[in-house]
Amino acid sequence: DLFYRLLPKVELHAHLNGCVSFETMERLIARKPHLNIEHSMTAIRAGQRRTLDECFQVFKVIHQLVDTEEDILMVAKAVIREFAADGVKYLELRSTPRSEEKTGLTKTKYVETVLEAIRQCKQEGVDIEVRFLIAVDRRNGPEVAMETVKLAEDFMLSSDGLVVGLDLSGNPEVGHGKDLLPALQRAKNSALRLALHMSEIPSQKEESELFLTLPPDRIGHGTFLHPGVGGSDSLVNKVRQLNVPLELCLTSNVKGQTVPSYDKHHFSYWYQRGHPCVICTDDKGVFCTELSQEYQLAATTFGLSPEAVWTLSQQAIRYSFAPECIKQQLEQRWMELRPQVL
Ligand code: 5GP
Repeated sequence: DLFYRLLPKVELHAHLNGCVSFETMERLIARKPHLNIEHSMTAIRAGQRRTLDECFQVFKVIHQLVDTEEDILMVAKAVIREFAADGVKYLELRSTPRSEEKTGLTKTKYVETVLEAIRQCKQEGVDIEVRFLIAVDRRNGPEVAMETVKLAEDFMLSSDGLVVGLDLSGNPEVGHGKDLLPALQRAKNSALRLALHMSEIPSQKEESELFLTLPPDRIGHGTFLHPGVGGSDSLVNKVRQLNVPLELCLTSNVKGQTVPSYDKHHFSYWYQRGHPCVICTDDKGVFCTELSQEYQLAATTFGLSPEAVWTLSQQAIRYSFAPECIKQQLEQRWMELRPQVL
């Protein structure tokens, strides 16, 4: 629907390697035919569902296809252009730095290449502001987490403001948040903004309580924070008291089966309570979606008026980790782009 595509949007929860489009995937597969990877292994189509574990297998396949500087540059530039084409005016991209012995890729090179892609898109006049969050994959444990935080600190100082924060993601079934707390604490102390995946599965209740002591600047998913699904009033109260915005990804949660159906998505729980909610895609390639589609889904599922949809997209600006001057520019854009009819 044109309204949703033209709606100026802010994307705050997008994992680079989960965002690879069908077209880019075709190019990657053609570059590495010996891997025998088919498209069905890298995307979950309409009507298909997977367990969360199976979703994480998909990322392993994609990582095999994206393992050189050249791949990362191509993927990152394509992803940025695709978000721009969907009407996204501000994008916070996140990715886990990887080193690959085979190709000589290092974690530093990995981050530099993503930043290069952001700069090239800017130079080419792509109409989108992009910032980067360096991701910690929880499965790699506390030492790697600490190294990653140090890498993020270095880049925060040397990237002309492109690196703004730290993400914690990866398979929630693996590892304990308690072990990662020192690294997260250090990041917080270094003024890196924290976007943490929390309560993606029911067993993360204690971990979420612990993370809220930091506290994080935004929460990814937060699917199981509230009492109806095994969370608790005290968790909800804490999140509300701290006013930590939630990044909500409808299609991702339904296809990954942590939410049984769109109408049962926790968007409604938080939105009804007036809590800051941001609609996001998570992995637009893997889950075959776009941000405009996610807004439309939220609107049709929960009966949001065009005015309410507009407000939702506009308010996302203030939950971004962009500096104040960029936020003001974005507010201005939103005023200019607002349709008369709303
Ligand atoms: P990358 O960091 O390689 O650019 O993007 C893929 C990675 O993002 C995955 O390996 C995983 O660590 C993380 N990721 C993507 N989607 C999800 C999700 O829905 N939940 C969690 N916890 N992590 C995710």
